[in-house]
Amino acid sequence: IVILVILSKLLTFNLVFKSSNYDWFQTDSLITIVIYTKQKDMNADLVIVDCQDKQLRGEIIMDDHSYLVEVDLDHAVSEDVTVNIAEKVGKVEIILNKKDNVHWKMLGQPCEGHNTFIKRTDRGLFYRKCKLISKTEVTHDTKLFCLMLPKGTHLRVPTGQHVYLKHIIAGTEVVKPYTPVLPFLPLDFQEPPCHDAVHIYLMIKIYSHGLFTQALDHLRIGDYISVSNPEGNFKKSQVQTSEDLLLLAGGTGFTPMVKLLNFALTEVSCLRTVKLIFFNKTEDDILWRNQLEQLALKDERFQVQFILSQPSKDWVGKQGKISSSLLSEFVKRSRRDSKVLICICGPAPFTEQGVQFLKNLGYSQEEIHAFTA
Ligand code: FAD
Ligand code: NAP
Repeated sequence: IVILVILSKLLTFNLVFKSSNYDWFQTDSLITIVIYTKQKDMNADLVIVDCQDKQLRGEIIMDDHSYLVEVDLDHAVSEDVTVNIAEKVGKVEIILNKKDNVHWKMLGQPCEGHNTFIKRTDRGLFYRKCKLISKTEVTHDTKLFCLMLPKGTHLRVPTGQHVYLKHIIAGTEVVKPYTPVLPFLPLDFQEPPCHDAVHIYLMIKIYSHGLFTQALDHLRIGDYISVSNPEGNFKKSQVQTSEDLLLLAGGTGFTPMVKLLNFALTEVSCLRTVKLIFFNKTEDDILWRNQLEQLALKDERFQVQFILSQPSKDWVGKQGKISSSLLSEFVKRSRRDSKVLICICGPAPFTEQGVQFLKNLGYSQEEIHAFTA
């Protein structure tokens, strides 16, 4: 037992030691913090920086672990923060602008989590206050909220991940997850202006008796709401090797599909077909119907199928609820042996039943990704 304890301590020390490789230097006007992650595929999505007043927090995501630099800075810095990444060698630079051209004797006082490399699940969520910039109608009950990150924040929510919003309602802190989308579905698949890393767009259905969504709906432009770091277990690499991508969405379960669609059609060259099967109650509930139809006209790899569970008598399209027979009709490989990825998101029972139906149809666990909390 003693040997095991010593070994585990050595291992922990090694993990911390291996990843505590940060350095800093200064010029007259800049402070540069350099973190050597030694991770080859380091990218901007994996670096989250918050610099407000004299507090600096820089978190680097490395698989299911995170490395943190957190200090109470020696002197004041301006709000602009630059993050540079040398992807191939895994070097991350956080560059701060000094407010006064004084020589810093030290970077600052370390905070509790400073210079630690621990499991992400043990880190806890960090929130920053974001300003509500606009609120636009998507359907009769769903709105697109545009939030602006503070100036000293560098945060990009990766495809397939969600954030938590936190708000005090009647004296109690309430937290709910939401999946950021793009401001619209880009049709030309050039780098969309929405990748500005400043705004977060959320498509949110307002429930008439919903605790959180009612409070959100009552926010005024210019009000603030707390937004967490991203979470989620979807990996883009799941799509990168697929030839057919099938997306099954129920209601606002459409939200993770937005960035996924954009990523697939822009960056995955081996994809032959992308199909969205979108389940809603009525025609009025279909989110971004027009944009989806435009996209299907514009890109021959993309098809959309709307299925309504409570259609009016004028609906000539497909009708029904998620079922084996509906799925066997629409979920198909484009070739007998093509590599397929099926993503599903919607009300919990919709997702659970859908996964079961897909398995019954012969799709393997590796071919299915279910978005859940
Ligand atoms: P509550 O006060 O919890 O519920 C009040 C009433 O609202 C319920 O009686 C019910 O009628 C209805 N209701 C509440 N929650 C649900 C639900 N989940 N399904 C069906 N009916 C419900 N929602 C979005 O609009 N956009 C998103 O991008 C989004 N992303 C999510 C990501 C994840 C990972 C998860 C788990 C959920 C996501 N949700 C999203 C749902 C969201 O987190 C809340 O559950 C939802 O906004 C309702 O919150 P509320 O406090 O207003 O409702
Ligand atoms: P909704 O309008 O109530 O339903 C959308 C479609 O799903 C309708 O056709 C509906 O048919 C069907 N459906 C609902 N419950 C079902 C069930 N039990 N079995 C089979 N089909 C069912 O959906 P919504 O209000 O937008 O809710 C969207 C859900 O997605 C929320 O629960 C939200 O939490 C979830 N969501 C999850 C994530 C995530 O995990 N990452 C992201 C975004 C949203 P009926 O006519 O039968 O109701």
